[in-house]
Amino acid sequence: MSQKLLKDIDGLLFSIGGEWLLSKAINPLSNEDLQSIEIKVATILHGAASKVGDEELAAFISMVMESKSPEDLLANPKITKVVEKAFGTIALSMSSKDWKKVQKDLKNVYIRTKQLWSEKLKIVSSFTLQDEGAIEYLHENSQFWFKNTFLSKDKQALVVEKMRAIGEDAKASGLGRKELAQNIEDKLGHYFNPDYPYWNVQASSMLVRARTVSTLRSFSEAGCTTYRWIAMGDERTCPICGSLDGQEWSVSTALKHVEKEMSLKDPEDLKYSSPWVYPEMKNNEFTGKGLIYKKSTEKIQKANMEVVELESTSLSDIGVNCPPIHGNCRCVLVASKFSKAFPQEKMLVSQDNIYKHKGHTPRVF
Ligand SMILES: [Zn+2]
Ligand SMILES: [Zn+2]
Repeated sequence: MSQKLLKDIDGLLFSIGGEWLLSKAINPLSNEDLQSIEIKVATILHGAASKVGDEELAAFISMVMESKSPEDLLANPKITKVVEKAFGTIALSMSSKDWKKVQKDLKNVYIRTKQLWSEKLKIVSSFTLQDEGAIEYLHENSQFWFKNTFLSKDKQALVVEKMRAIGEDAKASGLGRKELAQNIEDKLGHYFNPDYPYWNVQASSMLVRARTVSTLRSFSEAGCTTYRWIAMGDERTCPICGSLDGQEWSVSTALKHVEKEMSLKDPEDLKYSSPWVYPEMKNNEFTGKGLIYKKSTEKIQKANMEVVELESTSLSDIGVNCPPIHGNCRCVLVASKFSKAFPQEKMLVSQDNIYKHKGHTPRVF
C-alpha cells in the first residue's frame, strides 16, 4: 500500500471518528512492532512445548499396563505426578537459552513503553524500584503462568483416559514398548504440543501485560489520576472491548491491583485476579454483558462463570480494567485526567498541551 493511500485512509477514518488516528498516534509501541516480537516469542514457546521427553511416556505406559480400571488410573497419585513432571519438562526447556530471549523481549517491551510514554508525557524518564520489581516479576513468573495454563485439570483427566484406551489396545494387540510409545506420541502428542496460534496468544498476552504495567507506572509518575480504555475500533474489535471503549478508571486503583497480583503465590489465582472476559450471547446476539471466571473452591471452573455488566463501575474490583482481557486483545490505555496538585516543574510542558482528545466519545456497537 502506498504512503498516499495510507494517509487517505487515516484521513477518512479521522473524519468519521478520530479515535483510530488517536490510538495509533498515542500507542507507544506500534502494532507492527509488537507483532514482530510476538512472532519471535511464540516461535520459541512453540518449540519449547514440543520437547516433552520419552521418559514421561514410558512411565505412563507402565502405569496404564498395571491399572485395572479407569477409576484405578485416575485415583493413582503417580499419574498426577507424571503429568506434572511433563509440565516440569516444558518449564525446564523454557528456562533454557531460548527462554532467556523471551525474557529479554519482555523486559524490552517494558522499558521501551516507559521511555516512549515519558517522551509523550514530557516527563523525565526514570526507573523506580517498582519498575525493577515489575520487570523482575515478568522475568520470574512468566514461565510459571505457562506451566499452569498449559493443560487444565479437565484436560489432564482426558489425557489419562486416552492413555488407558491406548494401553488396553496395546495389551490386546501385543505391541512392544517402543511401538507403544510411538503410538502414544502420535495420539497424544498434540495435547503437549498445541497449535502455533495457542502460543501466539500466550506470547501476545504476556507482552501486552508488560506494556500495561509500564504504561500505568508512567501515568502515575506524570501525575495522571485517571486513564481511559481505547479499543481499536476496526472490524476485528470484539463487542466486549468495544463496550469498554471510552471507560475510565483510577490509575492508583489499577496500580494497587497490579501490585497485589505481583504478590500472588499461586499462578492459578491469576485467572481470577485478572480474568479473561467472554461475550455473553443470546440467539447469537451480544447481550452487552460479559462472562468471567468466578473464584470458587469447586474444581470445575466452567460451571462458575459469572455474568458481569460491562458498564459497571465495579469492573475494576474484579480486575477487568486493563488489557489484555482475552487472547489477542489489542486495546490500549491513554492518560485522561491529571492531578492539579502535581508539581508543574516536573513537567516540561503544561498539562493542557499533553492530551487533546477530549472529543473522544465511546463508540456504540
Ligand atoms: Zn476484545
Ligand atoms: Zn481488547
